[in-house]
Amino acid sequence: MNVPPILLALGVVLLALALWLRWRIGLPWARVVAEDVSQGRPTQRALYARRYGLTGRPDYLIERHGSLIPVEVKPSRQARTPYHSDLMQLAAYCLLVEESSGRAPPYGLLRYADKTFRLRYTAAVRAELLAIVDEMRDQLEAEDVERSHTEPARCAGCGLRTICEDSLA
Ligand code: SF4
Repeated sequence: MNVPPILLALGVVLLALALWLRWRIGLPWARVVAEDVSQGRPTQRALYARRYGLTGRPDYLIERHGSLIPVEVKPSRQARTPYHSDLMQLAAYCLLVEESSGRAPPYGLLRYADKTFRLRYTAAVRAELLAIVDEMRDQLEAEDVERSHTEPARCAGCGLRTICEDSLA
């Protein structure tokens, strides 16, 4: 079958575009199983870890060597080392993948503007995450909770700023 040159050229352009987008996002070359960042509807349902009362949807789920790997993308964030809060968010996605698929991912990926970090999903990381979840649950039940940081920028972007007595912004 003869493929018209215009279609061939279009195919090359689309392939180049796909490669460029993947490079921009920082995803490894792996099958994207689900994503939550497209303009239309997400291609992925929320993941649940019922016994821990957690639910969420990572930006991407990719498949590598038979494992589902969660990917969280913070396109405007630039830092030499990842924020601990971002790592714990990623750890939560690893737990969600583990609980919903029955198989723990060996790691998760955190993408900043120009760098990708890998978080190994170890027993220690899992235990740290569950300790934080417990602490958060206790604080949700407490009547008064102290601010846990000194960063005005975090308060500036917080949806509770207008009613929070501890706000720095
Ligand atoms: S505004 Fe209040 S709740 Fe929001 S980040 Fe600041 S201290 Fe925390």
